[in-house]
Amino acid sequence: MSATRGLLEELIRRPSLTPEDAGCTELLADRLAALGFVGERMDHEGVTNLWTVRDPQGAAGASEASRAPLIVFAGHTDVVPPGPREAWGSDPFVPTERAGALYGRGAADMKSGIAAMVVAVETLLARRPDYPARLAFLLTSDEEGPCRHGTRHVARVLAERGVRPDQVIVGEATAVDQVGDRFIIGRRGSLGCTLTIRGVQGHVAYPERADNPIHRALPVFAELTARRWDEGTAEFPPTSLQISNFHSGTGVSNVIPGSAELVFNFRYSPAQSARGLRQAVEAALDAAGLDYQADWAHSGEPYYTAPGRLREVVAGVLAAHNKGRAAEEFTGGGTSDGRFLAPLGCEVIELGPVARSIHKVDEHVALADLETLTNLYGQILDGLGGA
Ligand SMILES: [Zn+2]
Repeated sequence: MSATRGLLEELIRRPSLTPEDAGCTELLADRLAALGFVGERMDHEGVTNLWTVRDPQGAAGASEASRAPLIVFAGHTDVVPPGPREAWGSDPFVPTERAGALYGRGAADMKSGIAAMVVAVETLLARRPDYPARLAFLLTSDEEGPCRHGTRHVARVLAERGVRPDQVIVGEATAVDQVGDRFIIGRRGSLGCTLTIRGVQGHVAYPERADNPIHRALPVFAELTARRWDEGTAEFPPTSLQISNFHSGTGVSNVIPGSAELVFNFRYSPAQSARGLRQAVEAALDAAGLDYQADWAHSGEPYYTAPGRLREVVAGVLAAHNKGRAAEEFTGGGTSDGRFLAPLGCEVIELGPVARSIHKVDEHVALADLETLTNLYGQILDGLGGA
């Protein structure tokens, strides 16, 4: 059994339902300590976090003063719940091989990414014990949950200490059909709102004695949902507003309801700000004379990594792997912990296995992809480390 598969199986056997870590971090910390990494647990509010660094100058604890470039692998040990056991072809926490793939919760999101990163570093250091850059791992057990006490917390501590990574590689699942066909160079921001529009309840036969909150909401949201917020950028799709819930009514046909509730979400490009979008919506609600309460939830800033060393190395490695065909550089999809790391002033990309089965029943990863991904991480490290 390959080293990457062996480590992945050990991780899948640990049922780390967010924010539980189930011993994954200890296993990984020990494995990295054997390579000379000096680890620090940054557990916070029930979340398990690890920051561990290997400095080529060897000075344990002196890493912040080191001048060697700092390359960070980032990932999460937690997984989403498997759902009903009977819907799975095998126990989600017993790694099982079927038809050339390994099945289990976390097989794609993202225990395979973590296993490949660790084995890539083991292989690299066996080949190049004098690798010139500092290498670090940032692991958390709170990426699938509220994301408050995980990478966000560690990034805050690192910022306070003046730690500024040069390059960050997040091992989230990013591929469409085959490992290396797509990687992520940025993510959109996410801004949500729960809006309550107040009216006056009454009889449908006497609308003049009522104030219908549904009728108030419709024209405003017809305009807001049709609005061209921006044209996007060369690398980001246009900003979009989607209504996910619209609740109102008493259940009977002859009563105008007293209130309506809408839940909507913006996915926005770096051309926008959360503050600007919020002001624009509230201006439209005010202009329509609505009586409302808006509860905003800003769940993610956008991030974007401009063309530079990291993108160049990754694109080069992937193009060579794809026999000359360039990998897609993608900014769509949901949010990730990259948003907390980019503000440290580093380049961030995300590269990992095929994303198709993540969060589903029968989550899996192709066994061949585990080896490919391990090799790709190794080649990227070689590129960044001047091989
Ligand atoms: Zn993930």
